[in-house]
Amino acid sequence: MIKTLKIDVDKCNGCRACEVICSSFHASPRYSSNNPARSRIRVLRDPLRDVYVPVYAGDYTMAECAGRDQYTIDGKVYDECSFCRASCPSREEFKEPDSGLPLKCDMCEGEDQPLCVKWCMVDALTLEIREEEAEEEPAVPEAETLETGLEALADKYGLKTIQTALARLALKE
Ligand code: SF4
Ligand code: SF4
Repeated sequence: MIKTLKIDVDKCNGCRACEVICSSFHASPRYSSNNPARSRIRVLRDPLRDVYVPVYAGDYTMAECAGRDQYTIDGKVYDECSFCRASCPSREEFKEPDSGLPLKCDMCEGEDQPLCVKWCMVDALTLEIREEEAEEEPAVPEAETLETGLEALADKYGLKTIQTALARLALKE
């Protein structure tokens, strides 16, 4: 089962309720705080042009892309990264503010439906579920997840700093 969020930018009014509930659900302990900077869905807002684009976080990417396109849809101009779901080096969205670790939507794991969908009063967000043939699982998913986190930390603090910290940890053991 593949779950995705269908987004209707024409219905979104930029209220940011989705950011509030997402960051609150993922707070530790759960619901103890809310901070849209920690949300896995971010609303790109340009009220003067009536542009509101909710984007939910996808995978981390090490390199920013070379394309810088603009889209004009129904007379509204959307800038370069408006529709991009990646946590990437060229912007602050979808990064844990304290650690710099990438954030990714987990579809509110454990809930009967995504909370951003539930909290969106104007139905700009809809859950879509489709079946796909199961692909063979990679042999070491945990290692890939770990590597992604380390890459993000290396991007933020530099490889040398991470190596020094790891060496210090190894000495403590
Ligand atoms: S809750 Fe709905 S209307 Fe409000 S910002 Fe999010 S997607 Fe847009
Ligand atoms: S589905 Fe859940 S984790 Fe994903 S963006 Fe919505 S509230 Fe956040």
